[in-house]
Amino acid sequence: MTREDAAALDAADPLGAFRDRFVRPPGVIYLDGNSLGALPRATAERVADVVSRAWGEDLIRSWNRNGWMDAPERVGDKIARLIGAAAGEVVVADSTSVNLFRLAAGALSLRPGRRTLIAEAGSFPTDGYMLQGLAEFTGARVRLLPPQELLGAVDADTAAVVLVDVHYKSGARWDLAAVTRAVQQAGALMLWDLSHSVGALQVDLGAAGADLAVGCGYKHLNGGPGAPAFLYVARRHQAAIRSPLTGWMGHAEPFAFVDDYAPAAGIRAQVCGTPPILGLAALEAGVDLHLEADRAAVEAKGIALGDLFIAEVERRGVEGVGLASPRRDRGLHVALTHPDGYAIVQALAARGVIGDFRAPDVMRFGFAPLPLSFAEVWDAARILAEVVETRAYDDEAFRTRAAVT
Ligand SMILES: *Cc1c(COP(=O)(O)O)cnc(C)c1O
Repeated sequence: MTREDAAALDAADPLGAFRDRFVRPPGVIYLDGNSLGALPRATAERVADVVSRAWGEDLIRSWNRNGWMDAPERVGDKIARLIGAAAGEVVVADSTSVNLFRLAAGALSLRPGRRTLIAEAGSFPTDGYMLQGLAEFTGARVRLLPPQELLGAVDADTAAVVLVDVHYKSGARWDLAAVTRAVQQAGALMLWDLSHSVGALQVDLGAAGADLAVGCGYKHLNGGPGAPAFLYVARRHQAAIRSPLTGWMGHAEPFAFVDDYAPAAGIRAQVCGTPPILGLAALEAGVDLHLEADRAAVEAKGIALGDLFIAEVERRGVEGVGLASPRRDRGLHVALTHPDGYAIVQALAARGVIGDFRAPDVMRFGFAPLPLSFAEVWDAARILAEVVETRAYDDEAFRTRAAVT
């Protein structure tokens, strides 16, 4: 493909108008929106309003007057529309890690007598870590298994299977509906971590008959660094599921100040402490932007951007660069390998192409469909080829590892 071909794709892009809805620093091609989503233009003003007017002037009256108290459900209902859930099935709370702990414990409460939790070895580690922590307190048994062994291991002792639907490194995508069905047929519950699919891919929890899910607010949802996360509990499980985090904000009557805990009805029982209002405001701005975009078009463009990148890197035959992502059934990031991957990612960043590195040798490039253009992706592939071929990365300055890679 020529650069003119890429520009022609941009001219015909039905999502092209969304690009200007983001802050796009000049000279930067941002291929890390899968790790920290770009800043929507509307966010600064929305957050400033919550700070100056709602907090500054309305003060504590904002809990009633400015919708602070029900913000977790309000933003949850909006996220529900992005993932095929119904109103009242999603709530915003805490971090993805905490929500995973909470719902894995909830799954144990829904399957008394079963004590095994199965998750994928080599997947994003926080999920396994949280299950291991939970096991210490509950006597549950955690099995981390390679993907090909995972479904075969589900048996009569399995309470839940925990999977990230898009692998954080390779981008490999599980068939959410088929896996949910297989796990449920064995009597277990399926707990999905949608961190890399929400806001990026078409996800339909309702059609899949999903049980439980969690997901991240600061990646493809563009909610800002450390944005609060969300969780989903299918309506049919809400009456029976128990939360291990029985804080006052999930109480049936928080302002009755009674001594004994009684859960709120529905999804609110999954909220624990006071909602993070500033973080919710930024997250809501990101979610609102996503609600304007056609989900099928978003997924199609993201896949096309990734395909274009792979094709352009391969066409240039860059020495030493391998593909560690599947060509099909992939999410919106692409993993390339190179023994000097870390230094190459640093050298690219010095030229304005921002990706990231995942040990031991993966260079990861994310293709957020709303802020990115086809021409930018074409340029990124050209710059990558140049950096590798000229060995521009072969410089001490690019080899010193920072805390965040
Ligand atoms: C990003 C990500 C998380 C984030 O967890 P935090 O608690 O927000 O740090 C969790 N799971 C997966 C699969 C992720 O990709």
